Amino acid sequence: MRVGVDLCNTVADVNACIKAALGLPEGYTFREYSMRAVGVRDKVGWFRKHPEVFVEALPLPGAVETLEKLAACGVEIWYVTSRPVWAREITRDWLKKWSFPKGELIMEADKARVYENLGLDLFFEDAPGEIERLERAGARVVAVAQPYNRGAFRWDDTGRGGDLLGVLLHCAGMLSGVPQAVLLPVR
Ligand SMILES: [Mg+2]
Repeated sequence: MRVGVDLCNTVADVNACIKAALGLPEGYTFREYSMRAVGVRDKVGWFRKHPEVFVEALPLPGAVETLEKLAACGVEIWYVTSRPVWAREITRDWLKKWSFPKGELIMEADKARVYENLGLDLFFEDAPGEIERLERAGARVVAVAQPYNRGAFRWDDTGRGGDLLGVLLHCAGMLSGVPQAVLLPVR
């Protein structure tokens, strides 16, 4: 089984760093998946000026442990990110620093194409637009819950999605075509 794993806000809490860089209050919640919503018009230029958001992001709770367990079960992990190419080394170092399981790192914005080209079986993603494009292309997607998406799954839903059994059941449900059997409640 091959799984594609998005990075920003799927396994890396980049939004917390963006919030800090923009001086937004700690309790601020990104309700929209948009940098414009927080006053950033030139997204590409902004990230170039703020590489620290990729360097300093903490892993989301449970992400490393869950991927480690999946890898230990023989699941092949592919990290697929639309981060800019200049952030490749930073990203590689970050995955290593936090002991994420080994996996190829693909810098590519068109995740549906990557899904198809690599013959992936499942994709972990948070961005509503990406989830939609992936699903439109026939991909099976596990949406990592964020305030701006439908929120089906969290790595750290202990006893629901964060434990290995929950994750595997979820993946198995997606793969067998009956995700409703194991879909976790929207929060
Ligand atoms: Mg993301």
